[in-house]
Amino acid sequence: MPVCLTILGSGSAGNCAYLETSHVRLLIDAGFSLRQIRKRLATIGRAPENLTGILVTHEHSDHVQGLARLSEELGIPVYCNRPTQEAIEYQLKARLTTRLFATGATFDLEDVVVETFSVPHDAQDPVGFLLRTPDGNIGILTDLGHATKLALERVRRANVLILESNHDVKLLQDCPHRPWSLKQRILSRHGHLSNEAAAEVAEEIMSAELQQIYLGHLSRECNRPQLALEVMKKRLETIGAHHVSLVVTSQSIPCPTVALRKPADITPQLPVPPALHDAPFINPAPHLQLPLW
Ligand SMILES: [Zn+2]
Ligand SMILES: [Zn+2]
Repeated sequence: MPVCLTILGSGSAGNCAYLETSHVRLLIDAGFSLRQIRKRLATIGRAPENLTGILVTHEHSDHVQGLARLSEELGIPVYCNRPTQEAIEYQLKARLTTRLFATGATFDLEDVVVETFSVPHDAQDPVGFLLRTPDGNIGILTDLGHATKLALERVRRANVLILESNHDVKLLQDCPHRPWSLKQRILSRHGHLSNEAAAEVAEEIMSAELQQIYLGHLSRECNRPQLALEVMKKRLETIGAHHVSLVVTSQSIPCPTVALRKPADITPQLPVPPALHDAPFINPAPHLQLPLW
């Protein structure tokens, strides 16, 4: 079975993605109600009861809304760091079943190797992820005010990248519904990436192995999908990255599932010695193909 990724929804009001391999069924963040998550999983024939775990980036409500019920009622383990656990439990008045990691740690969830790394954002201890699956690497880089060297280095090995493209700077500055203090927070080095900043990240980390970028965490009021897409498209054209496909995520509907496929289907794959398992990653799948289901 190929590794499959479905963005169940992404935007400033809720974020949740579903990753399935032969051995695990994971959510990355749970920023919708359990009812919504159930509904969206049902569109791909899945149910929350069968989840193996939930990886959590940070405690902001657009990432944790459904966690209390998923953890307390269904007993799904939550993978996060301690400051995030404490903040979520305080906020949701819930007692989570957690598997704690230290930020910066790398750990195995069956056939997925989870690399965690710190990101600059106004939360207790926010993280990004690089998920190394048997069929390719998935980078999760949302909710950060600026791209640090560390974050860039980690997602440089991604074959698929979920990248924040939060706002258009002018739309944000002109937005009549947001107080000045909130605009400052979003624009700060611990806020969110603008469309231009996302394009910078893409340029910085571009590689022949990067096949797909999801533009995620779009602000409803201060961005437009078409704007975000145009800025990124233009940048990819400028740098000649014609091999990368772009998908703008939606807050309200899941993206089509993407099946990561190894080049082993086309060319023989070199075995990776077990000793390399925890060593710096050597990508066994340089020509990942991403057909849509
Ligand atoms: Zn967020
Ligand atoms: Zn956040």
